[in-house]
Amino acid sequence: MAPTPHPMALHDIRRHALTLGFADVGLAHLDLGEDIAHFEAYVTAGFHGEMDYLARNIGLRAAPAALQPGTVSVLSLRMNYLSDTVDSAMSALRDPERAYVSRYALGRDYHKRMRKQLATLAEWMATALAPHGYRVFCDSAPSLEKALARNAGLGWIGKNTLLLNRDAGSLFFLGEIYTDMPLPVGSGEAAQAECGRCQACLKICPTDAFVGPYRLDARRCISYLTIEQRGPIPKPLRRAIGNRIFGCDDCQLVCPWNRYAQRSEAPDFAPRHGLDRASLLDLWWWTEAQWQTRTEGMALRRAGWSGWRRNLAVALGNAPFSADICTALGEGRIGADALVIEHIDWALAEQAQKGHSTAAT
Ligand code: SF4
Repeated sequence: MAPTPHPMALHDIRRHALTLGFADVGLAHLDLGEDIAHFEAYVTAGFHGEMDYLARNIGLRAAPAALQPGTVSVLSLRMNYLSDTVDSAMSALRDPERAYVSRYALGRDYHKRMRKQLATLAEWMATALAPHGYRVFCDSAPSLEKALARNAGLGWIGKNTLLLNRDAGSLFFLGEIYTDMPLPVGSGEAAQAECGRCQACLKICPTDAFVGPYRLDARRCISYLTIEQRGPIPKPLRRAIGNRIFGCDDCQLVCPWNRYAQRSEAPDFAPRHGLDRASLLDLWWWTEAQWQTRTEGMALRRAGWSGWRRNLAVALGNAPFSADICTALGEGRIGADALVIEHIDWALAEQAQKGHSTAAT
């Protein structure tokens, strides 16, 4: 175990974390019993879909010291990522000819920036406070990061299952430093839950993915369907996906606490290739080589080329009728794989139906 640092260590850590671009940091207490029970119920219900990794290593999630031996303290940190306003995100979402990309994915892959800054902070702690053994995580290990953040006083877990903060809403990334440094206990008090009687997120979900408050069935969630799921998107959900081609932010954009969302000036999170307001057709014309080049270092890569085309086909099918879209979809069949062709054919049928309706009126 590392030596005990001075009593003001957390104060110093916070001050240095802010200089590294973090918005806040707290020391988490490690009682995760109720959260693990909630998580186990989620997996038992099958809500995790194809994300089998979530069903593994539950013991590691329950006990930080099992994940990183020697851990006695967990620092939870958050970093804002919103590069524009919630209103501008809403206006992109409401334009059916434009692509909506989840705001977290518009810039550089957040894992890289977060891990780099977390490691820089941990190294600073080793120099400024005491040598210590540590590991940093950002969405990269079996850890209950939202519960840890709540235990660290960074906010509360809302009915939309995300961490909410009174002063910053929910549009931020979370990361952790697991350390064997015994930081002063008692400084991480859980924030009071402030959802009250609000149910806006539960009602806005386009695919009714919320089974109830705090319970999300990922198999119906557009983020899961457009990013994590590799096969066909279930037909009954395709229309509801609208123009969302990578992820979905509806349950955040509607949340009243995101009136207080804080913007990030970090160049890493600035939109690349105009993706915050790109037209669906412009993206459709990207070649595979262009996609490979343009998405390098971005979270968008996770969907894969085939998933990207599948998602765009669905969104083009949902766009208002356009002869240009029909032509583009038809040309897109050439050289496409079977998954994409099936989605193109669905989209063409949707376009044809709208075209007939338009002609009849
Ligand atoms: S929309 Fe309302 S219920 Fe949902 S997380 Fe925000 S405050 Fe809570």
